[in-house]
Amino acid sequence: MLRKIFNFDSIRNKWAEKMKILLILTVLALTISSCNTNQKKMTSEEINPFFSEFGTPFEVPAFDKIKTIHFMPAILEAIKKHSEEIGTIVNNPELPTFENTIEAKERSGSLLTRVSNVFYNLTGTNTNDELQKIAQDLAPVLSAHYDNIKLNKELFIRVKTVYENKENLNLNPEQQMLLEKTYRDFVRGGANLNEDDQEILRKVNQELAVMTTKFGDNLLAETNDFKLVIDNEADLTGLPEFVRETGRGDAKAAGLEGKWLFTLDKPSLIPFLQYSSKRDLRKKIFMGYINMGNNNNDHDNKSIASRIAALRVRKANLLGFKTWAHFVLEENMAKTPEMVYELMNQVWNAAQIKAREEKTELEKMMEADGVSGKLEAWDWWYYAEKLRKQKYDLNDEILKPYFELFSVRQGMFDVANKLFGLTFKERFDIPKPHEDAFVFEVFDDDGTHQAILFMDFFPRASKKSGAWMSSYRDQSKINGKNITPIITMVMNFSKPIGDTPSLLTFEEVSTLFHEFGHALHGMLSDCTYEMLSGTSVSRDFVELPSQIMENWVGEPEVLQSFAKHYKTGEPIPENLFKKIKASQHFNQGFATVEFTAAAFLDMSWHTITDTVVRETLSFESGELNKIGLMPEIVVRYRTPYFSHIFAGGYSAGYYSYQWAEVLDADAFEAFREKGLFDKATATSFRKNILEKGGTEDPMKLYIQFRGADPKSEPMLKRKGLN
Ligand SMILES: [Zn+2]
Repeated sequence: MLRKIFNFDSIRNKWAEKMKILLILTVLALTISSCNTNQKKMTSEEINPFFSEFGTPFEVPAFDKIKTIHFMPAILEAIKKHSEEIGTIVNNPELPTFENTIEAKERSGSLLTRVSNVFYNLTGTNTNDELQKIAQDLAPVLSAHYDNIKLNKELFIRVKTVYENKENLNLNPEQQMLLEKTYRDFVRGGANLNEDDQEILRKVNQELAVMTTKFGDNLLAETNDFKLVIDNEADLTGLPEFVRETGRGDAKAAGLEGKWLFTLDKPSLIPFLQYSSKRDLRKKIFMGYINMGNNNNDHDNKSIASRIAALRVRKANLLGFKTWAHFVLEENMAKTPEMVYELMNQVWNAAQIKAREEKTELEKMMEADGVSGKLEAWDWWYYAEKLRKQKYDLNDEILKPYFELFSVRQGMFDVANKLFGLTFKERFDIPKPHEDAFVFEVFDDDGTHQAILFMDFFPRASKKSGAWMSSYRDQSKINGKNITPIITMVMNFSKPIGDTPSLLTFEEVSTLFHEFGHALHGMLSDCTYEMLSGTSVSRDFVELPSQIMENWVGEPEVLQSFAKHYKTGEPIPENLFKKIKASQHFNQGFATVEFTAAAFLDMSWHTITDTVVRETLSFESGELNKIGLMPEIVVRYRTPYFSHIFAGGYSAGYYSYQWAEVLDADAFEAFREKGLFDKATATSFRKNILEKGGTEDPMKLYIQFRGADPKSEPMLKRKGLN
C-alpha cells in the first residue's frame, strides 16, 4: 500500500479572497482556544521549529523538537502564507506566463507541505487523542483552503490563458505535463461551475474530509478495542512456540503478565487463525476482525461509509460525471469502469473454480480431523495451513527462522545495489520519527547522496495497521538545486521478544520488498516539480515499482543470499526453497477470490448513480451475491474497515493492484529474458519508470521500458490461472 499524505489535492495553491481568509482564520482561532488547552501554555520564548530551518542533517524534520502544540500555529501560519503567495500570483500586473503563474503556483505553499507532511505521517504512526482532534478540526479547514484556491476565478483565468497558449510556449515534456495537470486539476476541482454549484461542492468536500478522517480514526479504535485474552494454557492448543511467545509478549505489554493476548494486528491474528485447534476461539477472533467498525458503538463506520459514497456521487455529478468511478478513472490508466471490470472478469471465474477445488480439499482435511459440518470462513486458514504442511511439508514455523528481519533488510539493500548501484548506511545522528525507527542514508553508485530512508517496523497502539510508504519531503529541483527526498517505510511486523529477533513469514518478506519498491520510486525520482515527482503517478501505475520488487524474493539466488537461520547462520536448504517454489500456486484461488471480491465491492460503492444513502450491510451482501462470492471466503475488506477506499486514496482504485500485476509480471519477464540483474534492463527501468514520476504518460513510459504493450499472460501464469 502506498499512503499519500495529502488525501486532499497535493496541488500547492492558495486563495486570495481576503474575506474567506478572515473567516477561516477565525474558525482556526476558535478551534485553538476552545479545544486545545495546551496551546495556551505556549509561551513566547518557545520557538516553533517549523518557522525556521530544522538545522538537522539534510534538513530532516527536527522530530526531537517538534511537539503537538506546534502543529496548529504552524499550519495556521502556513495557510496564511500560502494565501499570500497565491495573492501575489493573482495580483501580478504582468501578463500570465508559464513561469509567473503555473510554476509560481507549483512552488507556493511550501511551508504548508512541510508541516502537513510531518503532521500526517505522525497521525498515521504515532497518534494520540490530541493529534486526532487536531486532524479532525483541520480536515474541513484545509478542504476549504484548497477549494478557495481551485475556485479562485482570477487565478483560473490566468491558468487558462497560459493553457490556451500552450502551443506557442516551447515547453519541455515535464513543463507540458505540469501545465496540463494544473489546468485539469482546476477543471476537476470545479473551476468551470457556476457559483451555486461551487458552493455545494465546497460543502461536499468539507464533509468528505471530515468523514474520511473519522473513518480512519474509528478503525484504529476498533483495532485496539478487540482483545482475545487467554489465561488457560489448554486454550493454546495447536499454537507453535513463536505464536505463544507473541501472545505472551503482547499480554505482558498490556499489563496482563502470565496470560496470552491476541489482537487484530496481522502478526497476531493470522498465525492464530492458521494454528489454533480451538475452533470456537478461531471463530471469536475471526468475527472480531470481520466486524471491525460494525459494532453499533461510537466507532461504527457503516453509516459513515454509505454517506461517503453518496457524497462522492454528488461531487461526481456536479462535475459532469455519471459516477465517482468515472470521475476517478479518467485520471488512471484504466480510464473507464468497463476496463476495470474487463480485467477483473478475466481472473474472477478462473479464481472461483480454483477456490472451489481448494475448498473440497480443505473439507476432506476437516473430515479427517473428525470435525463434522460445514467448512466455515474461520476454518479456511487453519486447514489451508495443515494442507500446506501435508502437501509441501512447509509452514511458517519452518520458514520463519530463516527470515530474520535485519538479514532480509540487508538482502533487500543488496538487490538495490546490484540493480541500481545504491548503497545504504545506517545513521545514528539524525532525529527519528519514533524511537523504534531506523534511519539510513542512501548513496547513488557514484557516492553522491541520494535520499534519507526511515524504516519503522513494529506495531503499537498508536499506529495504523498495514504497511505503507510515505514521504517527509519529495524530490524536486529548485533553481537548479536538487532537493533530495526523505522517505519512510512503515510496517507492522512481529517485535523481537527476549532473545528471539523479529522473524518474518514469507509473505511479510514480500511485503517488505513491496514497500521498498515504493521507496525506490520516491528515492530515485529525478524530476523538477514536486507535484509530478516520485510516486505522484496514477493509482494503477504506482503499484508497478512496488510489486515488481516482490519477484526477486522468489528467485533462489536472491533468497539464498539473505535467508539464513538466525541461530546457526546456515543458509536456507535447497529443498526448502524448492518447496517454496512448488507451493507458489497453493491457496491462490482463495487469495485471488478474496482480493478480487474487494475490488468488485469497491467498484460497487463507486458506480452508484444516485445519492441515496444505502443500508451498508445489505448493500454489501447484495453486491457480493451478485458476483457469486462463496460463503467460505469473506471479502478481503468488508465495508466498515475498507480503509483503502474510505480513508485512503484507493476509491475506485482497489483494482489497481491487479492492474499493476499485469504490468509487473510482464515487466519482470524482461529481467527473466536478459538476466535478473542485467544492468541495461535495470538502468532502463530506472530511467524510464523510477526516475520519471508522473512527468509523462504512464503507458508511454511503460512501452519505452518494455518495447511493447503489456500482456496479461505472465500474470495469469504466475497465479496458476491460465
Ligand atoms: Zn503498494
